[in-house]
Amino acid sequence: AKNKGKNQFSIYTTKLKEERLWSTRIEQLLHNAVENHEIKLNYQPIINLETEEIERLEALARWDHPELGYIPPGEFIPIAEENGLIIPIGQQLFKQACEQLTNLHQKGYTSIQMNLNLSLLQLQHPDFISFVKALLKQYKLCSKDFELEITENIALSNDEMVIQTIQSLKSLGFRIAIDDFGRGYSSVGYLRTITVDTLKIDKSYIWDVNDDEQTARLTAAIISLARTMGLEIVAEGVETEEHLEFLKTHSCHWAQGYYYAPPVGKELIETLLERGV
Ligand code: C2E
Ligand code: CA
Ligand code: CA
Ligand code: CA
Repeated sequence: AKNKGKNQFSIYTTKLKEERLWSTRIEQLLHNAVENHEIKLNYQPIINLETEEIERLEALARWDHPELGYIPPGEFIPIAEENGLIIPIGQQLFKQACEQLTNLHQKGYTSIQMNLNLSLLQLQHPDFISFVKALLKQYKLCSKDFELEITENIALSNDEMVIQTIQSLKSLGFRIAIDDFGRGYSSVGYLRTITVDTLKIDKSYIWDVNDDEQTARLTAAIISLARTMGLEIVAEGVETEEHLEFLKTHSCHWAQGYYYAPPVGKELIETLLERGV
């Protein structure tokens, strides 16, 4: 047993070393990625469960490296947050989202809402507000066409400036969503101070609603909490007919997930909008 323990330990350290090498490699490649605009947005439909129409799109970062292939955002975003590259990446992606929205407007899809994910670092950046203002002006777009997704960690941040920036974005007309609602050991206290428009229930809840009574009750309670507070509620990670049944039974407004569509490139999104899900 002792031997086995030792072996597992060395497997563990080897894995750690490999991970550190991988992180260092990604970190190096990210600099080029920014320079060469390698990171692109994909878009995942968010469906209005009453109309069954795609009315919103969540923009998700995609990095297809010329040699290494697809590197998921879960791997490079945290590194970009650590080394600050999330600032130029975030700017490039916001710009792409504006281009895409402009394109969709021109094709006649004038009431699509674009959801963008924001990192803490972006909200801490002193030029963020002036950056987005300039962008909207450049593209002649309206803040109301965007919903900015922030995680509970950000909402819970004690950083006065971050809270201030969120309030400013709100007063500029941007909608604010709380992403991954209910994940981890979260508090709901921030809902007393930050005005948000939407709660996005974390996927882990949706995946359990049909198998776990406790989760089902809690999910139903979250939906009703949102309704009571006049907030919209989006279920993420909707993968099956059963998930959907549950959400409809409990009057959830919006659904997003593989059941309807995965995130797709900008060409395909037009096909989806044309054809419906
Ligand atoms: P998120 O914001 O919670 O995004 C939803 C994630 O769930 C996406 O993963 C999406 O592809 C995935 N997903 C959607 N529907 C389903 C489903 O039915 N089943 C399953 N299994 N997964 C589903 P993705 O694209 O890998 O993104 C991971 C995370 O990376 C995002 O989680 C977000 O936190 C972060 N991220 C992605 N793009 C950006 C970005 O532009 N900026 C920032 N700051 N973070 C981003
Ligand atoms: Ca999100
Ligand atoms: Ca997230
Ligand atoms: Ca989420």
